[in-house]
Amino acid sequence: MDFDHSPKTQELRRRVSNFMEAHIIPRYRQHHDEVTAGTFPVSFMEDLKALAKSEELWNLFLPHLTNDESGTRLTNLEYAPLAEIMGRVVWASEVFNCSAPDTGNMEVFHMFGSPEQKKQWLEPLLEGKIRSAFAMTEPDVSSSDATNIQTIIKRDGGDYVINGRKWFISNAAHPNCKVMIVMGKTDPDSADRHRQQSMIIVPMDTPGITVERNITIMGHHSPEGHCEIVFKDVRVPISNIIAGEGDGFMIAQARLGPGRIHHCMRSIGQSELALDLMVERAQERKAFGKYLHQHGAISEWIARSRMEIEQARLFVLKTADMIDKVGAKGARKEISMIKAIIPHMQTTIADRAMQVFGAMGISPDTPLADIWTWGRALRYADGPDEVHLRAIARLEISEAQKKQGFTLPYLTPPLRK
Ligand SMILES: Cc1cc2nc3c(=O)[nH]c(=O)nc-3n(C[C@H](O)[C@H](O)[C@H](O)COP(=O)(O)OP(=O)(O)OC[C@H]3O[C@@H](n4cnc5c(N)ncnc54)[C@H](O)[C@@H]3O)c2cc1C
Repeated sequence: MDFDHSPKTQELRRRVSNFMEAHIIPRYRQHHDEVTAGTFPVSFMEDLKALAKSEELWNLFLPHLTNDESGTRLTNLEYAPLAEIMGRVVWASEVFNCSAPDTGNMEVFHMFGSPEQKKQWLEPLLEGKIRSAFAMTEPDVSSSDATNIQTIIKRDGGDYVINGRKWFISNAAHPNCKVMIVMGKTDPDSADRHRQQSMIIVPMDTPGITVERNITIMGHHSPEGHCEIVFKDVRVPISNIIAGEGDGFMIAQARLGPGRIHHCMRSIGQSELALDLMVERAQERKAFGKYLHQHGAISEWIARSRMEIEQARLFVLKTADMIDKVGAKGARKEISMIKAIIPHMQTTIADRAMQVFGAMGISPDTPLADIWTWGRALRYADGPDEVHLRAIARLEISEAQKKQGFTLPYLTPPLRK
C-alpha cells in the first residue's frame, strides 16, 4: 500500500495552499465584516473566482467531465486533500467552484440531465455563473426516510404542478441561486415505495414559490440561507423532470455519496484548524504556574485530537479510493462510516479547543464556535448519524450471515451446540 500522494496531487496541494495563503486567508476578516454589515455576496467573491479559474483551480471535484466541460477531472482520491485545505475556511470552496450544494447538483445534471438540461443549468453552474439548491427535507414528515416525502408533482397537460413545503434548503437565499432540484412524488399511490419519487428542475423565479424564512442554525445566520420554502401550484414544463418519473430515489442515492464524502473532507480541514488553534493557545497561556499544554488534561486533548484526525483522514482517503474504483454504491458502507464518525469528531475537537480558549472559545473572536456549529449541523445534513449507523449495522449483519458458522471454531466446547 502506498500512502503518498501522487506528484500531481502534491503539486495541486501546493497550489491550493498558496492560493489560500495569498488570497483567502488575508480576506478572512473582510468576509466576516462585509457579511455582518449585510453585504452578500461579498465584494471580492467574483474576482477571486475569476482568479481561481484562471489558475485552473476550478471544478476540482468532478472526475468524469467531458472534453468541453471546464474542470480538472481529478479522482476523489486526488480531490480529498484539496477539499481538506479549502475546508479550513468555510466560504473558500465557493472560490474554487467546489461548494455544496452546487457540487451535488452538478453531479446530478452531469449524470442524469438531458442535453437541454445540461445546456441550461449544468453549463452556467460549471462556469460559476449561477448557484443552486436541493430541496428534499420537509417539516411535516421524518425526512431521514425519503419515502415519507409529501410534496406532490402532478402532471397537467404539458406541465407538472408542484405543491408542498420544504425546509432547511441550503443556498436558497443566495442572490445568485437561480435553480432548485426538488424531490417530490409523481405517483404516491400505486408505484413501489422507492419508485414514487421524482426530481424536477424548478427555476427560483417560478410563480408560486415563496421563501418564507431563512432558518438560523444554533442562532447562527447564514447569508446563503437554510430556507423554508412553500410551493403553491408551481408550474414547470414536463421537460424539467430529471431522468424519468420514479427515478428520484435512485438519483438521491447517487447524489448523496460524493456529497457526503466532500463534507467529510472539508470537516478534516476544520478539525485541523481547531487543533492548530488549541495547540497555539495552550503554548502561550499559563494557569497555575504552567502553560496549558503542561496540564495533563489538555495534553491528552491535544493527543486525542491528533490521533482522531489521522484516523479520519486515512479513512476518508480509503473511501475516496473505493468510490473511484467501485463507485459510490460499492463504497456505501464506508461512506456511511465516515459520515457517522467525522462530523462527530469535528464537534469533539472544536469543543476541546473552545475549552482551552476559556470564555473566548465561545465568543465570535475565534472561528471555533462556527466550526462546532457546522460540525453539529452535519450530524443531520445528508442523513442523521443514526440512519448511517443503521445502514452500517445492516450491511455488517448481512455480510456476517453470508459467512455463518465462521466463528464456531473460536467457541469453547461447553458453549458449542
Ligand atoms: C445546516 C443544515 C442544512 C441542510 N440542508 C439541506 C438541504 O439543502 N436540502 C435538504 O433537502 N435538506 C437539508 N437539510 C435537512 C437534513 O437533510 C435533514 O434534517 C435530515 O435528513 C433529517 O431529517 P429530519 O430533520 O426530518 O429528521 P427526522 O427524519 O425527523 O429524524 C429525527 C431524528 O430521528 C432519529 N432517526 C431517524 N431515523 C432513524 C433510524 N433509522 N434509527 C434511529 N434513529 C433515527 C435521528 O436521531 C434523527 O435526527 C439540512 C439540515 C441542516 C441542519
